[in-house]
Amino acid sequence: MSTAYIALGANLGDPVATVNAAFAALSALPQTTLAATSALYRTAPVGITEQPEFINAAARVETALSPEALLDALLGIEQQFGRVRELRNGPRTLDLDVLLYDDLVLDTPRLTLPHPRLHLRAFVLYPLADVVPSPDFPLPGRGTLAAWLPAVANQGIVRL
Ligand code: ADP
Ligand code: MG
Repeated sequence: MSTAYIALGANLGDPVATVNAAFAALSALPQTTLAATSALYRTAPVGITEQPEFINAAARVETALSPEALLDALLGIEQQFGRVRELRNGPRTLDLDVLLYDDLVLDTPRLTLPHPRLHLRAFVLYPLADVVPSPDFPLPGRGTLAAWLPAVANQGIVRL
């Protein structure tokens, strides 16, 4: 079994209900156990700022799926929630990203691990901090998660 961390984000429809339903969908994935879920966070949109606020969260899963199979499963859940891919950083019913998969470092056309912007974004780091086993949790090649939190503390994030 491998340990993977997943970011959840939604800003259309009822995003709180969507994120909670997405946790349930993660727990129903084959060969996968949902090990921990974060609090929900309300965050300001990045990039395209004229769109609704986001609800963000994170999950820790134990899985026998390969990284690519896990990504496929997540894209399948996004489809199930009616996601239409339009603008990059634009509004979405549900976005599911693989943040980390064990301590794997990978850069292929389909999958980059760790997620390349993970350490720069409050909406990823705060939820992730809820589901890692300890505050000094290492990000592959980037020191500890805790060390990155002060740098993003000004990004406007509210724990619900
Ligand atoms: P974003 O998540 O950056 O807002 P999308 O959700 O539209 O954008 O994802 C676009 C593509 O990013 C996916 O189809 C996937 O192949 C690729 N991708 C690369 N690395 C990852 C990752 N770690 N997690 C999720 N998707 C990734
Ligand atoms: Mg995505």
